[in-house]
Amino acid sequence: MTVRKPLKLLIFFVALLIVVGPPTRLAQADLSIEEEKKIGRQFMKAALSQLRLIQDPEVVDYVNRVGQDIVKHLEFHHFPYHFYVVDSGALNAFAAPAGYVFMNRGLIEIMDDEGELAAILAHEIAHVQSRHIAQRMARARTLNLAALGGMLAGIFLGGEAGAAAIAGSQAGATSAMLNYSRQDEEEADRKGLRYLEAANYSGKDFVKIMRKMGQDSWKAGGHMPAYLTTHPGVSERVVYLSTTVGTRSPSAKVRTGDSEGFMLMQVKLYGAYESPREAKPKFREWFEKPETRAMAYYGTGLMRRRQRLMDEAVTAFKNAIALRPDLAPILVQLGETYFEMGELDKAQQVLISALTLEPDQPAALYALGRCQLEQGQAAEASKQLEKAIRINNRLPKINYYLGLAYGKNNQLVDAHYHFGIYYKRQRSLRNAQFHFEEALRLTDDPKEKEILNRELAEIKGALRAAKQRSSRAL
Ligand SMILES: [Zn+2]
Repeated sequence: MTVRKPLKLLIFFVALLIVVGPPTRLAQADLSIEEEKKIGRQFMKAALSQLRLIQDPEVVDYVNRVGQDIVKHLEFHHFPYHFYVVDSGALNAFAAPAGYVFMNRGLIEIMDDEGELAAILAHEIAHVQSRHIAQRMARARTLNLAALGGMLAGIFLGGEAGAAAIAGSQAGATSAMLNYSRQDEEEADRKGLRYLEAANYSGKDFVKIMRKMGQDSWKAGGHMPAYLTTHPGVSERVVYLSTTVGTRSPSAKVRTGDSEGFMLMQVKLYGAYESPREAKPKFREWFEKPETRAMAYYGTGLMRRRQRLMDEAVTAFKNAIALRPDLAPILVQLGETYFEMGELDKAQQVLISALTLEPDQPAALYALGRCQLEQGQAAEASKQLEKAIRINNRLPKINYYLGLAYGKNNQLVDAHYHFGIYYKRQRSLRNAQFHFEEALRLTDDPKEKEILNRELAEIKGALRAAKQRSSRAL
């Protein structure tokens, strides 16, 4: 695995250089906005198949909310912004070309509040706004391809695999070509600090998270955080950042953000994604303090559920709920656990109480819908699932279950439509085509026909492109 990933990325970046053009042309010029967008799309295609992204709506929505709020305060932007959380323990965050911003789980785990998350996001947004990536890429066109691919693999993978890729490509000497320069860092810090404060966060949060990153603790045994190689000069940055922040008058409207939301999201990362070895000390720390004890139980429940120790998970969730009966996300987890155990009545009951607290909780609606589907209440199920998808259309497999619910309800056009969308997202194009065609055959509604014809045109285009690619490969 450690060999394959960098290799795939290498292939991607070789392809990328072909897209951008040979090194001699435009050798030192920056990329145009259109070129950067094109590279961004290419990059995302590779990234989506190679980086393990966290799909959990609670995590993804939270990070996006914070990121988009910073974007909202910008005077202009060339690209729409997208924020992703990578399921990796390495301390890293990076901006890919054209406004795709990635944050590793490990980095969020060492944060203490929303302001620190906002600070790192603001800094990455500042790299994009300053078009540093475009400048680096343009410069990199003169580099040896193998070195470039290996280096980027190292940057994006981080950790051991990344270190190996960097060493193997002899990139050390030329890494400055792709890593941000210290001038880039300073500019991103200066602008990032401005963005952070424009969104009413305290600049002190920036200093706090940078200080943690620059700590010596990792030097003792661990690997150097990938962030320090991609964003150089952390210790100097801490010095000038704290000086700048220190000279400002404290803003009256500084906010701490949604601290409970941040906490719930962080517990999710520790409980559902982090290794038990790393998570347990954190749970013990939370358990010690009465105000975070519920979170310790919640995290333990998530971990037990992942380990399929279902009874222990139920006990832990119940302990958490006894301390904090007002937190819908914990009730949702208990409901889902009951559902997985086949205890459908208990699951329904718990999920309905979650929805009493938060009527628009998409995960609760989704789980309740699946419960009802399982119990043969297809009409009810389709209602819950429709409501869930309206709030969040990225819930995994939701189109599949909607298809099932409509099918059982004999609403066949809707059923085929949702199966079509499900298979399209699975990249199973023939299956998608079949279902869209069935839906088209069964409907008389001109508006539905229009939607279905558009979907079919897209699928057929993708199938044609795939065919051309495979015939070229021969
Ligand atoms: Zn940076």
